[in-house]
Amino acid sequence: MTQATNQVVIFLGPPGAGKGTQAERLAAAYGLTKVSTGDILRDHVARETALGQQVAPILAAGQLVPDDILVALIRDRICTMEPVRIIFDGFPRTQAQANALDLLLEELGAPVSAAVLLEVPDEELIGRIVERGRQAAAAGEPVRSDDTEEVARRRQEVYRQETAPLIEHYQRTGRLTEVDGTGTMDEVYARIEQVISTAR
Ligand code: ADP
Repeated sequence: MTQATNQVVIFLGPPGAGKGTQAERLAAAYGLTKVSTGDILRDHVARETALGQQVAPILAAGQLVPDDILVALIRDRICTMEPVRIIFDGFPRTQAQANALDLLLEELGAPVSAAVLLEVPDEELIGRIVERGRQAAAAGEPVRSDDTEEVARRRQEVYRQETAPLIEHYQRTGRLTEVDGTGTMDEVYARIEQVISTAR
């Protein structure tokens, strides 16, 4: 039964919490496809596609890209997946996106298996993001347009307003687990793995 092998994991948490890094590792360990909407959008910007040109200023300002664009991107990625084995990093980010995802997953018969909320104290988040920008620059790698202190602060505000309410959305379905996102990458990963290995 392919149905039984569907697995859908959602990562929630503020910018800088480490969702991308942890999702990457979990995806490799569990044979899941990581879908990072930030990466997809940045790839469009780098390739200067029509979509990339449209969203570049939105990303640079730390604002959210319109819901219809994100929902179409996600639909494209997952509607032909069989089985549906996926980790979402950075999606959904608004109530409208969460509702659209619920519908889509229902159509596919692949409900959310686990939602992980990565928690890191506010004061640590901005520092992590600014440090990431600094390290990329020092290594001669491309620096994200939004990894500056000012835009990082804006991204935190957007998270609190638009995305944090989704915590309740996933709490209602009984699938949300809070995970302490402080400590080393290995420590955080071990906590997440424990959640995922017991989720069905
Ligand atoms: P972070 O979580 O550190 O902010 P991401 O790579 O997830 O980084 O997102 C970077 C930017 O991409 C966001 O600030 C936003 O402009 C855009 N973006 C990514 N995912 C979404 C989404 N689901 N809805 C709207 N905009 C998004």
